[in-house]
Amino acid sequence: MTQEFWDRKTETMPLRELKELQCKRLKKLVKYVYTTNQFYHKKISDAKVKPESIKTLKDIKKLPFLTKQDLRAYYPFGLVCTPLENIVEVHASSGTTGKPVVGPYTKNDVELWGEMMARSLYANGLRKHDVMQNAYGYGLFTGAHGFEKGAQKIGAMVITIGSGNTERQIDIMKDFGSTALACTPSYSLHIAEVAEEKGFNPAKDFKLRLGVFGAEAWSEEMRKNIEKRWGIVAHEHYGLTELIGPGVVSECEYKKLHINADHFYPELIDPNTGETLEFGEEGELVYTTLTKEAFPAIRFRTKDLASITEETCDCGRTLPIQSRIKGRSDDMMKVKGVIVFPSQIEAALMQVSGVSDNYQIVKTKQGDIYSLSVDVEPSEDRYKEGHLDDFEKRAENEIYRILNLHVPVHAIPPKTIPRSTGKAKRVIER
Ligand SMILES: [Zn+2]
Repeated sequence: MTQEFWDRKTETMPLRELKELQCKRLKKLVKYVYTTNQFYHKKISDAKVKPESIKTLKDIKKLPFLTKQDLRAYYPFGLVCTPLENIVEVHASSGTTGKPVVGPYTKNDVELWGEMMARSLYANGLRKHDVMQNAYGYGLFTGAHGFEKGAQKIGAMVITIGSGNTERQIDIMKDFGSTALACTPSYSLHIAEVAEEKGFNPAKDFKLRLGVFGAEAWSEEMRKNIEKRWGIVAHEHYGLTELIGPGVVSECEYKKLHINADHFYPELIDPNTGETLEFGEEGELVYTTLTKEAFPAIRFRTKDLASITEETCDCGRTLPIQSRIKGRSDDMMKVKGVIVFPSQIEAALMQVSGVSDNYQIVKTKQGDIYSLSVDVEPSEDRYKEGHLDDFEKRAENEIYRILNLHVPVHAIPPKTIPRSTGKAKRVIER
């Protein structure tokens, strides 16, 4: 155990002091948005709240939620709380389901982002002597930029390769001696696959020791596969464009997801009623950015389902702990009355011997009724062995064991499912 911290004072702050700090920052934030932005002013006034109404952390409940619809309605800069000339950087989500979400940053916001990412990556084990291959997509997307800022702040060497051109990723990884890989978990698997095709053993032929992954839901079983295949330790990152990008939550050496709660205040709510839940229960994550200037989010509904605890961690950090994301409430499927998350199907498939990491959940809608099936690629060796009905049966049994639901599984030839250099498409509708 190393017991090392990027910011020992904050990361090990007694919980009582953390709450005092959060409360002080919340009061200041509410006053700030109320006096600088018309939308927030109206929203808060409509809820019959004044900045003075916020006296304790519990009073946050009086404030209305911020939703994705709000962000779309005020696209692109309607929620900015500072003169536009103070904005020095801007990012945006892909906007595949509507207008993109815009993330503007002041100089101080950029500084905060770098600090949060440095803290997170340092907790993952990234150090000055590391060489981080940054295979997140550069561009408007926050991912690559956040990882770059944090790694440079630590003093590591950043290879700004971006996503795609997978053969080149492998050459660069070998030639530059990359020790850390930053990308989506599924892209790391695709890089490993191409490396194998080129005759490499990913676990032995590279200097890679650390994976810093995010931007995608992935199961613990998938993490184990990635760690084994690359011979690395793989860590999860959680963040959202609406909040700052990556840098909100990441893991310590014990793989506990610590929330950078001095700047991002977490709440849990019942996704159906909006009622606040106690920590320890499972619900929808709601976040408030306590210190951002350009676009502060107050009680943003993430639609991500998880739980939060304030238990002490063996690493010494007192920052609250978030569970892995169970799924987005949008991804939840109801099949024959059973609630199904794609991550549960992934976890079941990974139990089957001879399975590869490539699968797709196929949703078919007939009238109002959904049915599910799964296409999965066995490994090359398992595929050549034949008797694929055994393989399918075993996968169906594993899914049944977890979900109590019969989901037909089809074994399909290796390399049938399109590979992704960013977020993998794990659920398709036919
Ligand atoms: Zn910890």
